Amino acid sequence: MPTKKSDLNGIASIKSLRVIVTTRCNAKLLKPQADSPGVCEFCYRQKEQVSGDRETIDQLLKNISKNPNIRSLIFTGGEPLVSRHPRYLLKSAFSIGFHNTIHTNGLTLEKNKETLKYLICVSLPLDGSNAEIADYYRGVGYFNTLQNCLDLLHANAKNIGLHTLLTPYNIADLENMAVFAQKHAPMYWFIKQFRAANLAAGSNSKHYGLETSQFQKSVQDLIHKYPSLNIFASASSGMPSQTLFVYLDGRVFAHMPGHQDNVLVGNLLSDSWEELAISFANYQTDPAH
Ligand code: SF4
Repeated sequence: MPTKKSDLNGIASIKSLRVIVTTRCNAKLLKPQADSPGVCEFCYRQKEQVSGDRETIDQLLKNISKNPNIRSLIFTGGEPLVSRHPRYLLKSAFSIGFHNTIHTNGLTLEKNKETLKYLICVSLPLDGSNAEIADYYRGVGYFNTLQNCLDLLHANAKNIGLHTLLTPYNIADLENMAVFAQKHAPMYWFIKQFRAANLAAGSNSKHYGLETSQFQKSVQDLIHKYPSLNIFASASSGMPSQTLFVYLDGRVFAHMPGHQDNVLVGNLLSDSWEELAISFANYQTDPAH
């Protein structure tokens, strides 16, 4: 039975759900650029921690659809296109009526181009406006891949999303990235800062850490100058506040202000949306919950 909006309390305002399809990634297929810190060494990717066969996918999508507010799913990872059943997942979600976006590194987008018909938007990493800067963090040949993916998306009349990790290395290129982005009329451009938790641990901060005040000023200036780019940003956590995301195995996590780590609020394969809403509300009113 569909959930009533009045039963959803604090999560009633959440209209889109991030779906973590896999925690694996194929980014290391590219070789690191000389003198770079390596390919995607800023990423908190892990060994595979998500499992889900076709039956699990069916059940999960059915349960998600019981929340009438959620119309949009953002498939992410890891790299969602290296998961076990990407085509089945996207096609099933599309058939239910969800607006699907995928966050991909694009390395296998051409190979998976038949999935484009199930997608509203494809979001790609933009970490530099040219090969020298973009490849520094993503590996040799990444910028070329990005351009090929953008050509593919334009040819298929797909919406484009962009996401950028702003760092000490690429911040001087931010304006050039904006000019590059403008040529592709993105639906949105998400700019994020290296995670505060990683900075606190001292890991790689010299390569990726940016002062929050510098991050915020740079992005605010950009938003002011390029309103058509639909820029939104998130300092420190890398996530907009009140983000809800679900692993393919049903576990639901929330990113909430006041919590350094994402908090587990339930499992969509066993809990109803009403139960998740209660758990979510408990964390909001009692951060030590
Ligand atoms: S492509 Fe994305 S998920 Fe893969 S390693 Fe790089 S940042 Fe992480």
